[in-house]
Amino acid sequence: MDIQRKVKFEEELDKNFLDEIKDMSGCEEIDKCIQCGACSSSCPMAVYMDHPPRKIISFIKNGFKEEALKSFTIWLCASCYTCQVRCPAKIKITDVMYALKRKAIEEKVYPNRLQPPVLAQEMCKLIAKNGRNSELWLVVNMYIKLKNPLGMLKMAPLGINLMKTGRMSLKKEKIKNRKQLRTLLNEVKENAK
Ligand code: SF4
Ligand code: SF4
Repeated sequence: MDIQRKVKFEEELDKNFLDEIKDMSGCEEIDKCIQCGACSSSCPMAVYMDHPPRKIISFIKNGFKEEALKSFTIWLCASCYTCQVRCPAKIKITDVMYALKRKAIEEKVYPNRLQPPVLAQEMCKLIAKNGRNSELWLVVNMYIKLKNPLGMLKMAPLGINLMKTGRMSLKKEKIKNRKQLRTLLNEVKENAK
């Protein structure tokens, strides 16, 4: 049996992680967390998470970068804002979850074959290209990226029903002035550097 060490040595922690996250939008107050656990106890998704929200905040404060970015928690967060409303330290926990998702995508460290990060990236690509999201193509692109044709086949009956009722279309929706959109997005990218 392969026995793995579960304890982390201090030199393995990322001392800059807290500052990196604090620089991201909505995360400025994160070190005011008092670890009261109100976020975890009010989170409707906590029962499914590998680490509750309180622990994710603690990971960030203490340099456990890998644990925070590789956690399923950030992808299971339903953005309901309950934790944020109840936090006595007024920490924008939902924004922190978004910041961690962005970082995990940037550093490509999200759990392998997990749908939400792939879905998020494919949606951004579609919108950047066409100015609109087209659900059918979004789902198709996601399953192609996930190399999961069986998953796509399983979803096919639902897709057909949605098409029959006019809720989904084969047509790719596009805005008229896509060149203007690209100029705008390039400008945003330049300013974010
Ligand atoms: S509710 Fe706020 S202060 Fe309490 S553990 Fe969660 S983030 Fe920290
Ligand atoms: S915003 Fe996310 S982390 Fe906060 S309570 Fe809702 S699901 Fe849980």
